[in-house]
Amino acid sequence: MSAELALGVITGFPMHPSKDLARIKDMGIPTVQLQYPAAWGTPEGIQAILDAVAETGVEITTVFCGFAGESYADIPTVQETVGFVPVATREARLAKTREIAAFAEKIGVKRVAAHIGYVPEDHGHPLYQGMVDAVRWICGDLKQNGQVFSLETGQETAAGLRRFIEDVAVDNLRVNFDPANMILYGNDRPIPALDVLAPWIDGVHFKDGTWPTEPGQLGTETPLGEGDVNIPEWTAKLLSLGYRGPLTIEREIHGDQQRLDILKAKALIEGLVAEALLK
Ligand code: MG
Repeated sequence: MSAELALGVITGFPMHPSKDLARIKDMGIPTVQLQYPAAWGTPEGIQAILDAVAETGVEITTVFCGFAGESYADIPTVQETVGFVPVATREARLAKTREIAAFAEKIGVKRVAAHIGYVPEDHGHPLYQGMVDAVRWICGDLKQNGQVFSLETGQETAAGLRRFIEDVAVDNLRVNFDPANMILYGNDRPIPALDVLAPWIDGVHFKDGTWPTEPGQLGTETPLGEGDVNIPEWTAKLLSLGYRGPLTIEREIHGDQQRLDILKAKALIEGLVAEALLK
């Protein structure tokens, strides 16, 4: 287990598990959330991941699900394509989630996370009960592995997500709190939302962004500290509520600029955490 408030980054394995984890270790980052790396799901791939973790000491805290056919192009497309919401692909995606959880189990990871899609705010909506049933089913399955299932925030209000979690009514459902998503989707304010969701938060994404400027469009992701989240206040509040889990940086660009932005984010978070813990 990583130390309290260990820094992390969300990544796949674009090169090779040992190269990718070594690169992250060189940045001074001791944990990762792993986007499910389908190419490494074979027995040989799993062994390569276990070897890379042993070599580098970088801990994988979470395996994040993704599904074929998802698109984040704009808000209506997200509503139609992401997670367990589309009825036509729901069964197949639940089966895929189960497969990803089995992979996570083999690499010793007890936390599986996903965007489950737009949960309707209206309980009477025809999709609502189906979503409750789907998440309850997958949580039951994960529980047999001793795993938790964590819901990425952003595609609904915090109050709506809390009601949904209460309706699913299982003890291994959690929240991966991404403050930028609430803003990018124009759905809620991430600082007061911490109060609403605090009992379930077991992971976070340090990501920033600006509010949407046109209906139906997403806002714009920015380097950490340059968007509308107010990262200093959000971090102070997160810690004041007792959160001590990993602090996972998410920067959804690629290449050298991503590395530079992650290193800047790391310095910013280290300063904010030191300040918050002094209080
Ligand atoms: Mg995120």
